[in-house]
Amino acid sequence: MARPPLVPPGPELTAAERTRFARHLLLPDLGLDGQRRLRAARVLVVGAGGLGSPALLYLAAAGVGTIGVVDDDVVESTNLQRQVVHGVDDVGRAKVDSAADAVAAISPDTVVVRHRERLDAVTAMEVLADYDLVLDGADNFPTRYLVGDACARLGIPHVWGSVYRFDGQVSVWWAGEGPCYACVFPQQPPPDAVPSCAVGGVLGAVCASVGSVMATEAVKLVTGSGEVLVGRLLVHDALRQTWDAVPVRRDPGCAVCGASADATRPLGWATQREDACAAGDLADDGSLGRPEVGVEELARLLAERDAGRADFVLLDVREPGERDVAAIPGSVLLPVGEVRAGASVPGGDGRRVVVHCKAGGRSAEAVDLLRARGVDAWDVPGGILAWSRDVDPSVPGY
Ligand SMILES: [Zn+2]
Repeated sequence: MARPPLVPPGPELTAAERTRFARHLLLPDLGLDGQRRLRAARVLVVGAGGLGSPALLYLAAAGVGTIGVVDDDVVESTNLQRQVVHGVDDVGRAKVDSAADAVAAISPDTVVVRHRERLDAVTAMEVLADYDLVLDGADNFPTRYLVGDACARLGIPHVWGSVYRFDGQVSVWWAGEGPCYACVFPQQPPPDAVPSCAVGGVLGAVCASVGSVMATEAVKLVTGSGEVLVGRLLVHDALRQTWDAVPVRRDPGCAVCGASADATRPLGWATQREDACAAGDLADDGSLGRPEVGVEELARLLAERDAGRADFVLLDVREPGERDVAAIPGSVLLPVGEVRAGASVPGGDGRRVVVHCKAGGRSAEAVDLLRARGVDAWDVPGGILAWSRDVDPSVPGY
C-alpha cells in the first residue's frame, strides 16, 4: 500500500544539486519532488556500527538534509571488519565524530547532529522528537526497546535491522500504521540469553545488505515511494542467499501501542521481564547468594593451584570462537548452552568450579544452574574483560 510522503518538499534544488542527484531525478517514483523531500528530511541513525555505517553512507549520498547520529562508543580495531564509516586512523575517536567526518566527505551540505550518549528513558524522547524517522542499528536490546517505545509514542516510523553471523532481519515498525516492535517481540530477553555479534560473530557484508535495505526504506518513507516494510519482516540468510518476507501483525493487546497501553509508564518499562529485572537487581547487590571470586583473587588461586596447594576447575562458559580470541590459561570450555542442557563440568566431580565468561552475564547464569544441581560453583564478575583489564593486559579484549 502506497503511503503519503513523510516529509514536505524543501526549497528548489540548485543547478549543482540537479546535476549531483541526476540519477535520482530520473527515477519516476522519486524525481525532483522526492529529492527536495530528502533535502528537507531529518533522519536519526541510532548506532554508528555495522548497520548504521552503510545506512549513514547511503543516506548522506542520497542528499538527506539532516542526519542525527547516536553513539556513546569509541572506535575499536574490532569494529573495522564491518563498520565501514570508520577507518584505521579513527581508532580511539568517538564514533559520532568519525561518522560525521564520513558523512561530510560524501555530502558536505548535510547537517550532522552528534548525540554522543546512550539513550535512556529520559533522553530518548527528547532526542527522537526532533526527527521524522529513526533507523535503529542498536547492538543491544534495552536500546532497541527504548527506541521502539519512543517511536511508538511519537508516531514516527522505526526502521529496524539486526544481524547475527550470516543472518539478518529488517522491518519498519510503525504504531498506528502497522505493528510496533513490541507487537512482534513483546518482551526483552533476559540479559545475555541471546548471543550478540561480539560473542557469535557476524559477516561484515551482511551488515551492508541489511543496512542498505534500511536506507532504502528510509528514502521510500520520506518520498512516499513504493511499499515500505510495514507489516512485513524480511528474514535474510546469506549462506543460502535468500530473503523471505514474513507477514507480521499488530497486537491489539500490545503493552506499547495497544488500546490499553499505559501512556504514563516509564519508557521501555512495558517490555522488561519481571524475572530478569529481579534477578539483575539481586545479582548486583549479591543477595542471590551467588559466591564470587574477583579476578585478582582468581589469579592468586590459579598460582596456588599450579603449586599444588589448591584444587578447583576454572570453567569458561563462552563459545569456542571466543577462546580463539582470548582465554585465561588453565581454563576448560563448556559453553553456557551445554550447561543449560545439563552437561557436567569436565573434571568437575566433587570439586569447586569457578566460572567465567566474557563480562559476567553468562557465568552468573551458569553458576545459578550448577548450584541448583549441588555443584560448589563460584562466579567471576566482569569475566575475561576484567581479567584483561586488571590482571593480564596481554589478553586481548574483544
Ligand atoms: Zn505494539
